[in-house]
Amino acid sequence: MAAPGTWLGFDVGGSYLKAARVSSEGRVEERLHEPIAGGSLAALVGQLASAMEALGGRDAARAIGIGLPGIVDRTGRVFNAPALPVLNGQALGAELSRGTGLPVSIENDANAAALGEAWLGAGQDAASVLLVTLGTGVGAGIVLEGRVWAGRSGFAGELGHIQVEPAGVQCSCGSWGCLETVASARGWRRRAEQHLASTASVLRGSDLEPTTIVEAARAGDGVALEIVDGAAAALGVGLAAALNLLNLSRVLVGGGMAAAGPFLLERVVEQTRRRTFAQVFADCSFRLAELGNDAGLLGAARTAMLAGG
Ligand SMILES: [Zn+2]
Repeated sequence: MAAPGTWLGFDVGGSYLKAARVSSEGRVEERLHEPIAGGSLAALVGQLASAMEALGGRDAARAIGIGLPGIVDRTGRVFNAPALPVLNGQALGAELSRGTGLPVSIENDANAAALGEAWLGAGQDAASVLLVTLGTGVGAGIVLEGRVWAGRSGFAGELGHIQVEPAGVQCSCGSWGCLETVASARGWRRRAEQHLASTASVLRGSDLEPTTIVEAARAGDGVALEIVDGAAAALGVGLAAALNLLNLSRVLVGGGMAAAGPFLLERVVEQTRRRTFAQVFADCSFRLAELGNDAGLLGAARTAMLAGG
């Protein structure tokens, strides 16, 4: 039979599996979303194989692409996967390929999301795209001329670990004052707690979630504005470094905190402008990401397509 024109994209997360069968134009033809079976590698491979069956079986797709929360080395082994430790040291692609008979390609989840946005989302008319994902942490992915730039061993795009405060708090990576320590949801909370120890604010007694902080900042609360502006300045430092280095055409801001919308984005753009070569800044446009939770899934399918499966 002729090879089908669809691919499977699996977004493997610490808590959930999202999977879909996707056409060559990026149309989602079927999808599923279920809790991850992350107890053992065998359980996970079994779940992914069942997902393939649920999405039409091996004859319905040409190949499988996976985005996962870890780094994939040149031999296809996964490492640095604290959100799903069962993956560490495992060649998930080879295992799944053996189990399903389909080619399997793997990409880091932040890179997959960037690829998804570059393909079908807010980066689709741009030659080079940096997606910054603001959530519990700060993730990022770089797509150059339609392909992920993962670097020699998969670590490229770790924008969240550019140092923005040399005397800042220690980061999970071992360094100090990384962008992630300031601009992630955890960073916002930590800084809010610091300010609230000495300054009055409507935030006192609140949940200190980013949406609450942005709401208070919009209403003019001084502490909340300090948190948002501090995060924007830190992002400006990181993005200016990335832009001066790579002269990119598009920066996208996504993740849960992108729900703060233009209120945060405008500040990030201004803070970046102040620190970037004028021509480099003029070459780049800034947008909010558009695909939300589907970015990783679509990017995973695209990973399989680009691998030639
Ligand atoms: Zn770090």
